[in-house]
Amino acid sequence: MLFQFITSLGVLDNTQDEYIVQKVCGAIDVNSFEVRGPPIPALGYSQPLRGVYLKASLLTHDCVGNTHVSINDNNVLVCHASMDIKKGEVIYYNYTDPLKGTSLRQHHLLVGKYFKCNCDRCKDCTELGTNISSVICTECKTGYVSKSSDQQWTCHDCKKQFDHSNIEHKVQCCSDKFDVINKKNEKELEEYIRNVSKILAPNHYLLLEATQHLAGVLRDTINREPHPTKKLMRRKLQLCQELLPILEKLCPGISRTKAITLYEIHATMVQLAKKLFDSREITGTGYMDKLLNAEKYLKRALEMLFIEPGNSPEGELCAKALEEYRALKVTMNNVLDGIHAEGKTYMTTSKSE
Ligand SMILES: [Zn+2]
Ligand SMILES: [Zn+2]
Repeated sequence: MLFQFITSLGVLDNTQDEYIVQKVCGAIDVNSFEVRGPPIPALGYSQPLRGVYLKASLLTHDCVGNTHVSINDNNVLVCHASMDIKKGEVIYYNYTDPLKGTSLRQHHLLVGKYFKCNCDRCKDCTELGTNISSVICTECKTGYVSKSSDQQWTCHDCKKQFDHSNIEHKVQCCSDKFDVINKKNEKELEEYIRNVSKILAPNHYLLLEATQHLAGVLRDTINREPHPTKKLMRRKLQLCQELLPILEKLCPGISRTKAITLYEIHATMVQLAKKLFDSREITGTGYMDKLLNAEKYLKRALEMLFIEPGNSPEGELCAKALEEYRALKVTMNNVLDGIHAEGKTYMTTSKSE
């Protein structure tokens, strides 16, 4: 069909060129990047396009990349080092979703890019110690069971072995259940997390996905309600703080998801600290400690968001975060004035949390 379309353009000399067309289409398919197309107001979103960038397409894949790619509204691709890269080291770009387990990433690479990844993360059954694909051992009830060969899974603690099909079925059931729950509903997500936590390791990718959805639902509730509860804020903070160490391991350095998570941690810390101060549960000094801690998260988020194109959702978040940084500085000055007005001096006791 594609060949007929291209033939109809009159750019080909003869039907011998069909092979070339297929080859070119395959090369474009495998090497292209997703680009946000122009917004379609009637649909309320932008249609994704595919873009081929000759230099960027040379980047080789690793499930833990060392680059960060952003594409602006003029379709210019910018590739930043996401971490320090020593002279002579390979420059990698991760073509897959880092928050998916090895079997899903490898399937995506095999179907979409036609190769089997054999990177350090893929070779490590614990996936850099995260156990993102592991399940809880039904024998010792505490160990994590990871894939030890094509047909076997083994418990790290009691060494009990399980059939691949047995574990696969278990994970598939959890995945099927996730597909049918309402991901905008706090109670359904909480119930899902509670139930599958008995089966899957705490950082399993299905739990991480549910965690991200739940944090988003709580963020919307907190921002919508005139008087959100401290319980809601603490739960959202807990979810984001659970996610952060996994992101640090799987996406070291600059990462979009990490920047957003850091921003969300800061936002909730500020909201919660204000609520505690307003209800006189903490003193000015306690408030100041919490604001300084939140500032650390916001600064880290901003360092990553600064490189995003201004007209992207992350660029817009950067502008918002910058506004909030200025507001945070004003609040901190006011709190300091309050402390001084009581004749006290502020000594920071803030710990890095
Ligand atoms: Zn890999
Ligand atoms: Zn065990």
